[in-house]
Amino acid sequence: MIPYGRQEITQSDIDAVVAVLKSDFLTQGPAVTHFEDTVAKYAGASHACAVSSATAALHIACLALGVGPGDMVWTSPLTFVASANCALYCGAEVDFVDVSPSSFNMDVSALAEKLKSAAILGRLPKVVIPVHLSGRPCEMAEIHALSLEYGFHIIEDASHAVGARYLGKPVGNCAYSDVCVFSFHPVKIITTGEGGMALTNQPVLARRMELLRSHGITRDPQEMEGEPHGLWYYQQIALGFNYRMTDIQAALGTSQMTRVDNFVDRRNELARRYDALLSNLPLTGPVECSSSLSSRHLYVIQLHLEKIQKSQRQIFEALRAQDIAVNLHYIPVYWHPYYEQLGFKKGMCPQAEAYYARAVSLPLYPGLSDAQQDYIAEALEKVLHA
Ligand SMILES: *Cc1c(COP(=O)(O)O)cnc(C)c1O
Repeated sequence: MIPYGRQEITQSDIDAVVAVLKSDFLTQGPAVTHFEDTVAKYAGASHACAVSSATAALHIACLALGVGPGDMVWTSPLTFVASANCALYCGAEVDFVDVSPSSFNMDVSALAEKLKSAAILGRLPKVVIPVHLSGRPCEMAEIHALSLEYGFHIIEDASHAVGARYLGKPVGNCAYSDVCVFSFHPVKIITTGEGGMALTNQPVLARRMELLRSHGITRDPQEMEGEPHGLWYYQQIALGFNYRMTDIQAALGTSQMTRVDNFVDRRNELARRYDALLSNLPLTGPVECSSSLSSRHLYVIQLHLEKIQKSQRQIFEALRAQDIAVNLHYIPVYWHPYYEQLGFKKGMCPQAEAYYARAVSLPLYPGLSDAQQDYIAEALEKVLHA
């Protein structure tokens, strides 16, 4: 089976992990700090907080920004459920802004419209979470300008976008956001097995996230109430979690970071090959943007179903039967039964729903060979024309 995404692990990755296993620290040791410094420097952010997943990073980012009961958080419906769940974890309410029919990222004009009505109703969001779908950066400058006008915070869900660039600068530099979150799940751009990171340029947010990552416990006398009882002393000053990343994971991450640009280059090369191979088929490939570099986490095609004798489902089944593990990113979040139960109705984001009805994610990862890609393109051509 050709998977839709896959990690690439080299001997140097393995050696880096083995070195940690033989060292004094398996968790909360120097490898985590080193990984944080490496990613922060690469992305151009001043602080980085490594955690057990991007889901954990989104959660502590929301908490650090003060999200709680009574607050509203808005995100895109075309994302993994974690981008919305993080608001619910905090007791806040979530709502969705429809996507642009060309980029499939949060639509800036839909956001502006929704903000205008929310301002009248007194229901403005505390945080907006744009998602860089497939690694294509959202229009952050425009979203940031709206945040200044309406007074909301921004968390970028850049789970797909490690190594992407926006207006010539790396995604993760937080030039247009309070916090930027990366995922290191094996299908993403670089991996730590499980893992995530929250980047920020704001020292206060960085410190809050660091506290929340590890039970809300401090060992810094300056942050304590009263005097320390002795050298062993620590205090819990917030309700935090165990969201720590291990040194084993961090060592893998640092080793993977040495190849991040190669991964993104190869993904872009494969994406351009797909563009050429599929150019005569009844489908639209991803549309890239001249002001940004996508990390190409996903290659999503939109089927022109009106020109095809098969349904989206039949096309999926035919490709899977040929050992091509196509996938679909994503089911609109509010279609899930859990969200329906919260009162969301089908029809609220027509662009996202139209996308879902026609989308297919083709396999894309650095280790995909040209020959495998040719096989996929031929199989797709046969299926669409049969
Ligand atoms: C993968 C992903 C997440 C969650 O990442 P984990 O590291 O698995 O918790 C969140 N948002 C998006 C858009 C993702 O693709």
